Amino acid sequence: MDFFHYLIIGGGMTAAAAALGIRENDPTGSIAILSDESHRPYDRPDLSKKLWTGKSEDKIWRKLPAEGLTLRLGDAAAVIEPSRKQVTTASGATLVYQKLLLATGGTPRKLPFAPPETVYFRTLDDYRALRAWQGQGRRIGIIGGGFIGSEIAAALALNGEKAVMVFPEVGIGARLFPAGLATFLNDYYRQKGVDVLPGLEIEAIDRRDGSFVLMAKDGQEVMVDHIVAGIGIRPNTALAQSAGIEIARPEQGGGILVDDHLRTNLPDIYAAGDVASFYEPALGRWTRVEHEDNAVSMGKHAGSVMAGSTAPYTHQSFFFSDLFDLGYEAVGEVDSRLETYAAWVEPYRQGVVYYLKDQLVRGVLLWNTWGQLQPARDLIAAAQPLTPAQLKRRLPVKA
Ligand code: NAP
Repeated sequence: MDFFHYLIIGGGMTAAAAALGIRENDPTGSIAILSDESHRPYDRPDLSKKLWTGKSEDKIWRKLPAEGLTLRLGDAAAVIEPSRKQVTTASGATLVYQKLLLATGGTPRKLPFAPPETVYFRTLDDYRALRAWQGQGRRIGIIGGGFIGSEIAAALALNGEKAVMVFPEVGIGARLFPAGLATFLNDYYRQKGVDVLPGLEIEAIDRRDGSFVLMAKDGQEVMVDHIVAGIGIRPNTALAQSAGIEIARPEQGGGILVDDHLRTNLPDIYAAGDVASFYEPALGRWTRVEHEDNAVSMGKHAGSVMAGSTAPYTHQSFFFSDLFDLGYEAVGEVDSRLETYAAWVEPYRQGVVYYLKDQLVRGVLLWNTWGQLQPARDLIAAAQPLTPAQLKRRLPVKA
């Protein structure tokens, strides 16, 4: 039986940030990170971005406290017993804690009919699997047109691979972007050599002559040699739920419910990162966020609260992506189901898209527009009704 002042379940960016947050506030308390992955925490965004544009694998490892940290890799938490303050691992070890952080993240959604060779892209091992496909002139089928689909298609094309994107929506990133921008991206990707097949819902996959046939609902068939899928993730809440920890309702994000100090309903148990549902004061809503900035900010905050800080978590996180030469940052409710107003400097190349509800700005997409995150947050926080004419001149704010 091992005792730790701080036990962190999960070994991603949230866990690494939490360990640093603890150490800033408690120079000596013992910390353990328990992770089912065999790798120490790494930069997940690099797996679909910078590792494909020159960054080397040895540069992806997250900073961790230099002293007093035990990394228990390749072992999963199996049972939490809150009354005894202990966790039993899959390998049978018992870890006793004073404070526990659940940073269990999410698991990719699966296609029930897909072959076992399908890579549901999320981990460093998935990245290595894709690299192993390289240089054979094969067609790589990508199912999903969201973050993973769009970034992996660009990464493969930039590295001379034939990527074939298949997704049900009208355009790339259609859940985020207004339809005009999403369909522009279809053509932009095609110009870069990607086969883009929007509006296709795959309902079966067959094997034929050593390849795979993606069979769409409308009867179309798409031949590919490998399959990678990015169709969303589900938060890993089962372990918490079986320990009696409260889970948020689906409309709250369906994660582990935490208060403004990232505490669950049980004493000395906290949650942060992709798995946590929290109240976002700036937008007055419950939410769950699956992006790097939130993982790191929330993880660090949870660590500092576990080690004695009394500050509430109020950070409004942002997310970003790179799509070949196009890039963006975004903050707030960036959801194409809202009313949108686009102020382009150059259509679809540079500009700002505002997402509105009842004339109030709820989200801002900064398309090839940099250094404007705080003004965008301020605009959302101001919660003032704005007309399109007023929005047109709102951002960028000159320093
Ligand atoms: P995602 O961005 O949520 O996109 C999933 C896409 O797959 C959606 O367009 C979804 O469409 C579609 N889809 C769902 N079921 C499908 C099916 N049966 N067949 C085909 N398409 C289907 O998720 P992701 O790309 O898998 O990314 C996984 C996680 O990593 C996300 O949490 C994401 O935020 C995170 N991530 C973030 C970044 C970044 O911040 N830059 C980069 C990579 C990954 P519907 O909307 O119709 O369901």
